[in-house]
Amino acid sequence: MLPFKLIYSDDYFLPIGSHVFPAEKYKRIHDRLLGTKVAEASDFIAPRPASDQDILLVHTPQYVEKLRTGTLSAMEELQLEVPYSPELIKAFWLAAGGSMLAADYALNDGIAISIGGGFHHAFPDHGEGFCVIHDVAVAIRRMQRDDKIRNAMTVDCDVHHGNGTAAIFAGVRIPNDPLPSSSAPVISPTRPARMRGAHAGDVFTISLHQENNYPAFKPPSSIDVDLPDEIGDADYLAWLDNALSSGLRQFEPELLCYIAGADPYREDQLGGLSLTIEGLKKRDELVFRVTKARGIPVMVTLAGGYAQELEDTVTIHTNTVVAAKEVFAAK
Ligand SMILES: [Zn+2]
Repeated sequence: MLPFKLIYSDDYFLPIGSHVFPAEKYKRIHDRLLGTKVAEASDFIAPRPASDQDILLVHTPQYVEKLRTGTLSAMEELQLEVPYSPELIKAFWLAAGGSMLAADYALNDGIAISIGGGFHHAFPDHGEGFCVIHDVAVAIRRMQRDDKIRNAMTVDCDVHHGNGTAAIFAGVRIPNDPLPSSSAPVISPTRPARMRGAHAGDVFTISLHQENNYPAFKPPSSIDVDLPDEIGDADYLAWLDNALSSGLRQFEPELLCYIAGADPYREDQLGGLSLTIEGLKKRDELVFRVTKARGIPVMVTLAGGYAQELEDTVTIHTNTVVAAKEVFAAK
């Protein structure tokens, strides 16, 4: 049995037809975890959908009304890049419920992983880039409303910038203020990237992403690491180490929300970085080792993953659970 819970439902499936987003990945990961005996059936907990009240902690009443009544404009639906249906809305409400449950379990067990979620391109008043509802933001706001946490940090390692997260928890860019100098990182990057800072509110947002990729406009996160194309494992891990060190020097989160996108993978169809499957697992281990050492509860969501071979996406996401098992089972 795992020393933490996996949050999952077959209804995480997104009814979007044939699409670059492999909606069947959630069930495939679930089945792989059981088939390889990484997890047992009793490690999984099924979420309930978020309530409209929960969704409204982040999203505007007008937007929620349009989603509930199927009255998005043609442009708004195009911007989603997934076809609207009432079933799609149900799946996103469930994803938000799953992230809420993962956050709650993380606070008790030190870590919990939702085998879904991470819809970081959703804004309060609209959705885009396959993201209808910002499940992670809903989970943070719900934990705050219930007085379970005062603050939180998001660490977004999807290849795409977390524009919705940045907008929801908006900071203000510090133009010339250098980030606090870091203690010597474990490994130093050899390839240049740009690390930018902004004042944080009660949620400190970190995004490591490929600069030359969607979204074109990247609203400021508390820390943005704009990575050059085709950066590999060692440099990526060094930049992640730098960003985590800098963020945790500035801010003490009561919950860390790790958005573990599989799309920095070198064979991703929508990404342009060059991480290997092993490098991505090391990335997960780094986040888990840091959070465990500091006693920061971590909730994990999966976000994107568009490898040429679906099996690779399934492997990368499954490895996130394996990495957590290795780090959290060790004394
Ligand atoms: Zn992505």
